[in-house]
Amino acid sequence: MNWQPLRDKFGSAIVDAARTRLLSGAAPQVDKAPFVAAGHAARTVDQLFDALVDEGQLERREMRLCPDCGLELPIEVADDGVCPHCEYDLGEQGKAPVLKTIFLSSGLPSREIPWLVALHGFNTTGDWQEDFGWLLATRFRHRAPAMMHKFPFLSFGVLLRSRHDSLVTQLDLKLRGAMERARASGIEEPPDIIAHSFGSLLLVKLLDRPDSADLIFGRIVVAGSIVRPDYRWEKHLRAGRVEAVLNHCSRKDGVVDYAQWTIPDSGPSGRIGFDDENVINFLETDFNHGTHFDPTTMIESLQNDGLWDRFLRLPVQSLDDSLGGHRPESPWRPAPKAATTIAHVGLILLAIAVSPFVAIKSGVEALWKGTV
Ligand SMILES: [Zn+2]
Repeated sequence: MNWQPLRDKFGSAIVDAARTRLLSGAAPQVDKAPFVAAGHAARTVDQLFDALVDEGQLERREMRLCPDCGLELPIEVADDGVCPHCEYDLGEQGKAPVLKTIFLSSGLPSREIPWLVALHGFNTTGDWQEDFGWLLATRFRHRAPAMMHKFPFLSFGVLLRSRHDSLVTQLDLKLRGAMERARASGIEEPPDIIAHSFGSLLLVKLLDRPDSADLIFGRIVVAGSIVRPDYRWEKHLRAGRVEAVLNHCSRKDGVVDYAQWTIPDSGPSGRIGFDDENVINFLETDFNHGTHFDPTTMIESLQNDGLWDRFLRLPVQSLDDSLGGHRPESPWRPAPKAATTIAHVGLILLAIAVSPFVAIKSGVEALWKGTV
């Protein structure tokens, strides 16, 4: 919906307040009182509500209330019938029902987060996994169970597609186990996913893996993503395997720029966003590669009306309108294949060349500490 004509007519302050209220995912009944209390003229509030009804954003509903107990009379009770709540006989008392107009948000009710899977990046700093689980369990009304998956420390393994494949296989098995346990506890819905850095790359590899084609997910947040910016999420969205994708990216995440030179099949979507118009790119200006998972940032993202909270809970139809969407200025062009291949091969050779020294060093350290 285009809100600008309403802003032009009623002013930005009241229209933006109404828009925020409607997109908040809070209770469907929308009252005029808070708008009047915020200093807007009652007449303007009335007119704006009427305009929102015309736009289909609000639904006007006339309620008939019992003049005695004030509760709503069910549809089957006539105007001169008996109130089923307090047995007040309207006909006998010669009283008519009290009429009251209420406004209901026409948007779908906000979504519950069924359960969450967090995929750790290999170089994520700090103990964010523990923070994340603790935050979800204690700080938020999201009481969704969570699964944390941390990839083993990879070092040179990131260079090799074969290593990626074995990690994806492990992830597939762990997810299937968790999904089974979720079903056993009565959670039939697929999990939402929050994936950071290397976790984002392995997630799309999992989605593309034929043996994992039966795995279905809810909403996906990628942060510090190293997936190629030209990756087509559309195929998974259309196939119903993914409900929606949020790319939490940042202009200042310089780490992801190195990805394509060191990690096969990767790219800097965590800085420049995805070209795919089906993805919501939310661009921060000052996050670095790890900021998303600082406890303070996570609290902001997951608390009421934080970015992740809104993305995970809002009706899917209102996501674009509510979260906006940054688009890359021009389509991403990967570095020449020959150049990245030379870089990958060079790094593998370097890794092979230094590995005896690494082995000797750790052997000496072990001897030194007496652990051999
Ligand atoms: Zn009554």
